[in-house]
Amino acid sequence: MLIDNHNRKINYLRLAVTDRCNLRCNYCMPSEGINFAEKDSLFTIEELCKLSEIMVGQGVDKIRITGGEPFVRKDLMVLLRKLSTLEGLNDISITTNATLIGPYIPELKTLGIKNINVSLDAIDKNTFERITRRNQYDTVYNNLIRLIAEGFNVRINFIALENQNTQDIIPILEVMKHYPVSVRFLEEMPFNGGSKSFNSITWDYKKILDHIQSEYPEITKLESPKTSTSINYKIKGHKGTFGIIPSFTRTFCGSCNRLRISATGDVITCLYGKPRMNLREVMRGDNVESEIKGHILKSIGSRSKTGFEEQEKYDGIFENSMTSIGG
Ligand code: SAM
Repeated sequence: MLIDNHNRKINYLRLAVTDRCNLRCNYCMPSEGINFAEKDSLFTIEELCKLSEIMVGQGVDKIRITGGEPFVRKDLMVLLRKLSTLEGLNDISITTNATLIGPYIPELKTLGIKNINVSLDAIDKNTFERITRRNQYDTVYNNLIRLIAEGFNVRINFIALENQNTQDIIPILEVMKHYPVSVRFLEEMPFNGGSKSFNSITWDYKKILDHIQSEYPEITKLESPKTSTSINYKIKGHKGTFGIIPSFTRTFCGSCNRLRISATGDVITCLYGKPRMNLREVMRGDNVESEIKGHILKSIGSRSKTGFEEQEKYDGIFENSMTSIGG
């Protein structure tokens, strides 16, 4: 079992399989993209399978596949097939922009993969296209509805972006009230490939909640798992639920059970910090299993208690993009 230096159990791995993405969301990276990693800097699919197996052997029981956009990797299903055979891995989740997932839906179902987070930051097509800088709205929307209809446990990630999409907060809840889906509103974080830096946000969780409450007074707060990053609510008459994730305000660090590994092998113990180490060459060296275990233990043995503490150590502005970190 993996326990960090603050006695928190680490059982949730967020594994980025690529840093490439076919969208260019303006809060995530500049229009020209970032300096994407060379192919040989990325883990191969065999390395990702091996790494996952080692991590599950260490007590990880939930893996979220993320990126970049996971489905830009043509061999992604090889990894997902492997994950579905790992004993002790109880939860395989995917975070996707839902542009490319369509052809894979039947096999995802066969593999028993249920939890899919779809990033959708607008319900209005023009707003979506302005934010993503691509015209993929219809594909994304159709795949989202298909995933819900096929019985996946779907959550929508919607970042509240000042002057960009907050006018869509109520409309997306109105459209989604007919579906068993959870719409989660996230605070914007300063990881956008260095295109803009900020120290405060207007649309924090309180403002998001006040805004929703002013439209729907009949809201009930729901019980959430201890390690949940979202505070969840039910609106009377809606089939699904909504949640708010204080990703900038960081009120959830105390129960953090996560570890991130990037597509190039960086071990990230907190979103607000620098990578602790890199595992790529370790994966390509000798005694892989024991070396990886040792490195992971060392990384989680020096975690900051909170994202604020980690940020203090960071020194300087955040220049990285969420497409390298995996969200
Ligand atoms: N391509 C996939 C997707 O679109 O969901 C997975 C990778 S994406 C980097 C993972 C998540 O990070 C998405 O939900 C995205 O909205 C979120 N994200 C990216 N940049 C962010 C930022 N600056 N603040 C908050 N969330 C961000």
